[in-house]
Amino acid sequence: MVFDLGFDFGTSGARAIAIDRSGTIVAGAQTPLSAQTPEGWRDALFFLLEQIPIAVRSQVRAVAIDGTSSTCLACDRAGTTIAPPILYNDRRAAAILDRLRAIAPPNHLTISASSSLAKLLWACDSGYFAQNTPLYFLHQADWIAFLLHGQLAIGDYHNALKLGYDPETLCYPDWLLDAVPGTIQLPETVAPGTKIAKIRKKIGDRFRLPPDCAIVAGTTDSIAAFLASPARQPGEAVTSLGSTLVLKLLSRTRIDDARFGIYSHRFGDLWLAGGASNAGGAVLRQFFGDRQLTELSERIDPNRASPLDYYPLLEPGERFPVNDPELAPRLAPRPESDVEFLHGLLESLARIEARGYQCLQTSGATPLARVYSAGGGAQNPTWSAIRRRCLGVEVVTSPQTEAAYGTALLAASGAGS
Ligand code: ADP
Repeated sequence: MVFDLGFDFGTSGARAIAIDRSGTIVAGAQTPLSAQTPEGWRDALFFLLEQIPIAVRSQVRAVAIDGTSSTCLACDRAGTTIAPPILYNDRRAAAILDRLRAIAPPNHLTISASSSLAKLLWACDSGYFAQNTPLYFLHQADWIAFLLHGQLAIGDYHNALKLGYDPETLCYPDWLLDAVPGTIQLPETVAPGTKIAKIRKKIGDRFRLPPDCAIVAGTTDSIAAFLASPARQPGEAVTSLGSTLVLKLLSRTRIDDARFGIYSHRFGDLWLAGGASNAGGAVLRQFFGDRQLTELSERIDPNRASPLDYYPLLEPGERFPVNDPELAPRLAPRPESDVEFLHGLLESLARIEARGYQCLQTSGATPLARVYSAGGGAQNPTWSAIRRRCLGVEVVTSPQTEAAYGTALLAASGAGS
């Protein structure tokens, strides 16, 4: 027997999942991340490894890691971090956006306070990274994988997208290289799933992993969640029905439209186009508990369109599929019946989802053929039926939605290569 192991480092916790060659889960573990620090990530990695039974661990042929997109750090030649990591939601880089606008192509996706490139330039300019010694700039997943394979600095082109890496030409553009100080080494970037190196002997011995266990290049947490679904063909998509609605559609063409926050990741020979609405399940939770959601949903007739037209936002502002920073939440009129009200909310969210896929297609993406659902709302069959009617395509609940499962599949694809 051989197994492949995936790790997911999300915003609140870390998980590991081991699968066999048929993709069946054979072991798993999770832990909250008490601190988003390199030490916290390392402790979580080692803790999770220890939770995987030795019978599985000792037969692992490949490991991959996903990290939170645009959480990044700098380290020295030994891999020791020289300052606290800059987390995905850190906005300090807003201070250098004018400079970035002057050097990056118009509407480039790095022109955002949360992009890794903005964070890097801000850290260099502000003295957050001392610049007189050579430094390696890495994403969270790159650094955690380094703990296992010992190579600096290697990353994958999913994490590197927000650093400005060009997924079409597979290199860092000149405008970017000109802007980064010469003392900073950017990650050498490979395709997710590429074998990087065998596990370090010290780590292999300590955790009883086989000496030829391969560490393969990882991905971001949200792409790992997409990988967990069966979607692999152009036109197949995953909608994440969590606190917000997140759409990802496999397309033959690359589409980017900064106005709507749409951008595409390279996905083998295809492109993974995505957009994220601020509307979503968080608004449902404002009115109903999860149990109430289930009970009321059972009383909705999904074949009948609700006449109620809402825009369920927690606060004003929307980017996709409508770009309007002032867009106000619309949650009135509220009918007396909670069943009618929830029907209106679910119907309105389904219309936003349909409009989202329309927006991706208008931008040039491959037409939608099938949608896999993930997130808390995916368990609601009434909502799935409403969505099927509004989207006009098959809607299927994804059998696996854990990012760590997608990362384990990525490890398996690398092991087989
Ligand atoms: P996130 O990770 O984005 O916080 P989850 O994927 O855990 O979100 O999903 C949580 C959301 O799922 C909540 O906002 C809740 O409103 C929604 N949810 C939970 N159960 C149901 C249900 N039966 N029908 C519709 N939505 C649901």
